[in-house]
Amino acid sequence: MDYTKEKSIKKYKRNLTLKIISIILFLIIGCFSTIFTEDTALGDTNNELKVYFLDVGQGDSIYIRVNDYDILIDAGSNSNVGHLMEQLEKKNIDDFEIVIATHPHEDHIGGMTEVFSRYDVKEFYMPPVVHTTQAFESMLNAIVKEGIKAKPIKEGTHLDLGSNATIDVYSPIDSVYEDLNDYSTIMKLTFGDTKLIFTGDAESYAEKEVVAKHSEDLKGEVLKFAHHGSRTSSTDEFIKAVSPKYGIICCGEDNNYGHPHKETVDTISKYDIDTYRTDKQGEIEVTSDGKNIFIKTEK
Ligand SMILES: [Zn+2]
Repeated sequence: MDYTKEKSIKKYKRNLTLKIISIILFLIIGCFSTIFTEDTALGDTNNELKVYFLDVGQGDSIYIRVNDYDILIDAGSNSNVGHLMEQLEKKNIDDFEIVIATHPHEDHIGGMTEVFSRYDVKEFYMPPVVHTTQAFESMLNAIVKEGIKAKPIKEGTHLDLGSNATIDVYSPIDSVYEDLNDYSTIMKLTFGDTKLIFTGDAESYAEKEVVAKHSEDLKGEVLKFAHHGSRTSSTDEFIKAVSPKYGIICCGEDNNYGHPHKETVDTISKYDIDTYRTDKQGEIEVTSDGKNIFIKTEK
């Protein structure tokens, strides 16, 4: 058998294995059309919400601590996983109650396998879409290997995070999008009277779709701008719906994509938004006492 033929058979077999794992996984998690969390009222252990926009170069990783919950949204890329682990270790996290992958691109799930092997993860959420990459395959294998409970996240998902804290999810709304980025979860973290909006890499298509259906729900003091400040996201409609006081852009210093794009920076500058960037200020720490937001930066 010639080399190319052998290689293509290997590739075919790998894709087949991936498809089978994906199907099994989605048969298991697909059974939940609505997610009901178990009784999670843990009482007032502290009256503070902490959200850390971690500096993982070009990618997203956000660590949230509220009540007795440790939550991770995305895990950055694999090339930065060492640095991510160092940052997480400093936060003395025993385990993660919830881990969310906003969508299956490498700069969001590349570090997931390592997170799964280092930490006990109680629940893992991802949008109902599969991807044929090494990073995605490796993540699926780790879910199976570690026996992690995987659930779909989409419009209507509600997560209870103990006293005065919830996550509400507004997208993905549809089951099929042309752009993988549009499967990104757009969600709101509420703590007392304060609200933070997270967007993954949602493009303007998904932003507009969510504004059309949920504009009343999107108000928030803090907005993580979508897709690292790409010109393909951060529409006026979306920014107006959120009307944030503070904005966060997660991107790597001198990244190959030119994020954040000048067009996005110009759009943001039309509004009165105090904007922070992980490429310039390193880790960004957002604290809420339920009424007020405080921001601290590493640099
Ligand atoms: Zn991304």
